[in-house]
Amino acid sequence: MRILFASSEAYGLVKTGGLADVSASLPAALRRRRQDVRLVLPGYPEACRNLVDATPRPGPEGAPWQLLEGHLPGTRLPVYLVDWPEYFQRAGNPYSASNGMDWPDNAQRFAGFARAIVALARDEAGLDWAPELVHLNDWQTGLVPLLLDPERTGVERPRTVFTIHNLAYQGLFPASTLQDLNLPAKLWHPEALEFHDQLSFMKAALVFADAITTVSPTYAREIQDPASGMGLDGVLRARSEDLHGILNGVDYRDWDPARDRHIATRYSADDLSGKAANKTALQTRMGLEPNPDVPLLGHVGRMVEQKGVDLLHAACTPLLEAGRIQLALVGSGQKDLEHATGALARAYPGRVGVHIGYDEPLAHQIEAGADLFLMPSRFEPCGLNQLYSLRYGTPPVVHATGGLADTVVDATPENLDAGTATGFSFTPDSIAALGAALERALELHAARGDGRWEQLMRNGMTRDFGWNASADAYLALYREQLPRRSRRAKAASAL
Ligand code: ADP
Repeated sequence: MRILFASSEAYGLVKTGGLADVSASLPAALRRRRQDVRLVLPGYPEACRNLVDATPRPGPEGAPWQLLEGHLPGTRLPVYLVDWPEYFQRAGNPYSASNGMDWPDNAQRFAGFARAIVALARDEAGLDWAPELVHLNDWQTGLVPLLLDPERTGVERPRTVFTIHNLAYQGLFPASTLQDLNLPAKLWHPEALEFHDQLSFMKAALVFADAITTVSPTYAREIQDPASGMGLDGVLRARSEDLHGILNGVDYRDWDPARDRHIATRYSADDLSGKAANKTALQTRMGLEPNPDVPLLGHVGRMVEQKGVDLLHAACTPLLEAGRIQLALVGSGQKDLEHATGALARAYPGRVGVHIGYDEPLAHQIEAGADLFLMPSRFEPCGLNQLYSLRYGTPPVVHATGGLADTVVDATPENLDAGTATGFSFTPDSIAALGAALERALELHAARGDGRWEQLMRNGMTRDFGWNASADAYLALYREQLPRRSRRAKAASAL
């Protein structure tokens, strides 16, 4: 199948979060299934620099952009970067300036990106290649299903699948944006683009895409509920027949302690002996007391409300005060949370090590060196870090929500006996509930002489959250979207 995969980030080119991991590894997994999948991204400076075999190609006649064609680093996956200097050639993050404020023209930038995707989808950019299906990701690509003109359904057009990676980011803009973007006035109603008097890129996709997916079965259910639907639960309920939860996979070529290039000593479920050296290395790097016995708790992630960093601080403070744990954190985001995390490190020197910023090797070192991984997210569409921590023998402590609920099996006495436990989960998302889960974890860790802790580590390390099952599920979904005619034609031609 010819698939155009459109995303605003992809690991290897540019990354701010989990979307990038998925946008690199899902297309690669589809390619291994012999699908003709190609990736399209905005031509951010970092992406242009990282593109392999970069070759410029003219865009459509008169368009203010051209294409940069090449490959995703380390793969043969074809990539098109939309080289639109006015919109994408700027310093800073894909979405915001270095002062943390969103770029004021984000609506124009990502409407521009959407129009370029549509041009590729309609084979108007001289590629002599037209996808049968366009897979879109998050609000930055939200206008594409709309622009591919659902009213002309009689006409051949690629089918669209839209994946919600995080419903909290909806691409909301002032009502006047409709005109600025030259979108038809008749789309201004609550069943199309209007969301409480604002224009919603996300909603455009939820209304017009042929199918919608999100990144875990539990999150797919949760977002149809007013409590977690962020105002879009009604739209999602209306489309529940077309809404599917497919768990993200892990790229174990990058995230496996048996071959990780970033960690001090490699190890595996068959030979855990190297893990202790990673703990010592992490303690040294983060300025922590070199104590092999004190439980070292790790955290990696964007420092935003969602991730529950405030819960983590509050629940860990009494344990730090009592000298019962060490903490190693890496992350960046909201200034208030960054400051609070820095303050915790100053309050407990030698017990808390913090790096504010984005540091890929350190993220690997924390996964490998910590004894427990903390992920008290208030909501979590899928979450990747808990999956990494499972593979690294670092049992995760998670709020039982979204993908965390789908992937971590709580260490209840029954699950421990049954050999299915992989971590610790708690609910609700309160300081008390997190504190209680931590007590359970520390108790099991303290009794590790009895072998149950090591069993817990091994249970997690041997679970398979690779892309195989998920890539198959996406492919099956893509096939269901293709028009019956071409499916029959395909069946006929296969005879
Ligand atoms: P989200 O997509 O909400 O940010 P995920 O858990 O799905 O959360 O994915 C986060 C990804 O980003 C992981 O690969 C994680 O290791 C990485 N990451 C997040 N913050 C940092 C950081 N400060 N340094 C290094 N890697 C980070």
